Amino acid sequence: MLRIYNTLSRQKEDFVPIHEGKAYMYSCGPTVYNFAHIGNLRTYIFMDIFRRTLKYDGYKLKGVMNITDVGHLLSDGDEGEDKMQKASREQKKTPWEIAEFYTKVFFEDLEKLNIGKPEIIAKATEHIKEMIDYVQKLVEKGYGYEIDDGIYFDISKFPGYGKLSRLDLDEQQAGARVEVNSQKRHPADFALWKKAEPEHIMQWESPWGMGYPGWHIECSAMSLKYLGMPFDIHTGGVDHIPVHHENEIAQNEALTGKKSVNYWVHGEFMLVDNGKMSKSLGNTYRVSDLEERGFKPLDFRYFCLNTHYRKKLNFTFEGLKAAQAAYARLLSLVFKHKQAAPCGDKSVAEKYLAQFQEAIDDDLNVPLALGILWTMVKQAPCREIYDAALEFDKVLALSLDKAKAAEQAPEEQAPAEIIELCEKRKAAKAARDWATADKLRAEIVEKGYLVIDTKEGYKVSKNK
Ligand code: AMP
Ligand code: ZN
Repeated sequence: MLRIYNTLSRQKEDFVPIHEGKAYMYSCGPTVYNFAHIGNLRTYIFMDIFRRTLKYDGYKLKGVMNITDVGHLLSDGDEGEDKMQKASREQKKTPWEIAEFYTKVFFEDLEKLNIGKPEIIAKATEHIKEMIDYVQKLVEKGYGYEIDDGIYFDISKFPGYGKLSRLDLDEQQAGARVEVNSQKRHPADFALWKKAEPEHIMQWESPWGMGYPGWHIECSAMSLKYLGMPFDIHTGGVDHIPVHHENEIAQNEALTGKKSVNYWVHGEFMLVDNGKMSKSLGNTYRVSDLEERGFKPLDFRYFCLNTHYRKKLNFTFEGLKAAQAAYARLLSLVFKHKQAAPCGDKSVAEKYLAQFQEAIDDDLNVPLALGILWTMVKQAPCREIYDAALEFDKVLALSLDKAKAAEQAPEEQAPAEIIELCEKRKAAKAARDWATADKLRAEIVEKGYLVIDTKEGYKVSKNK
């Protein structure tokens, strides 16, 4: 039985789906006015692990992820410049071109990181009608009111406001730094629909004139359309708890009059050098930045999997390097079992498979699951262990099936001095000078390395 931590109740709960054997999940997707950074991607790796665990547990998945290609405003308060519009001005491209470009790169990044694409990808710009209908219904029910610059949600009409973040409204305003718009009835009332200035590029016709949707209505309207309400799971990063998801709950429950989402599940933040990632500090790394520094995307995935999704994860290049070395060693151990003959005893792997299942079902305890994998692959070579590792990999998605002997951590590769001895030995062997070749081999072993001959040439590795 899968247990998952629900932000709403602040405890781990048994996962009981609404529709038997099916899991419906909505995940807040990216705002595509810029590249996704490694912090964003950590959140999508968490989403992926969650999805894979549900599948592993036998659920049929219906996952929706939005692409925010409308752009929402710069601050949590509904003020500031539209992010898409700002990027569009700076890069001298239309907002549609900006969105298309960054959406493409986003999906490339997901693929590099073995993050499976949710079944439904929903672009905000293709659901404007659904959003307008939603807002209209809220207005009809008395939850929305019109002021000069748009339609706002009246939080005083929704007594449950604040139940997800458990902040009282005063704290929430301090946290969200909501700018006060004097026409709003309450400072924390938020925009459902904004009226557009003529120079605003992305705007649509609505019952309130030309305008564009608020950010929160986007997720409410698209989750309602594809999943219905209530649905099972909603994911996102912890930054979404106090404003975005609180507002989604208010909209949903005002519209339907009932609970809208059973499990709210949030991934903790990634820090860089123990601080916030920010453009001004130049530390908002992308996957391609890591690749340029000699890391593979899956080194980063492995790095993320070592920390539970509800713990903060501090990114440093030293940490990533250590993950790279560990991941390479893991692959070489997996390869040992891949090459091994069956040991004829299924129970060797079954014990670990049971432990693995228990770990992932306990609120996605992937660090523990990785520990179990390590213990398992350190056993004597046995093909059944390789098969079990591939089962683990249905959730971990570390491409363990691609394990090759050549996968070695850089520090495990032989230094130049050893390579030189190997080359001399190769020459000696070619010259059929076996005595010299043996002497050179002994010298290599003495220096702590092993050299073996294969069809493709010699292979040298640290003698452990
Ligand atoms: P955005 O494109 O800003 O809406 O962010 C996309 C996703 O990344 C959201 O689910 C955010 O909660 C998440 N996110 C943003 N910054 C970080 C971070 N530093 N660490 C982890 N997740 C983040
Ligand atoms: Zn959202």
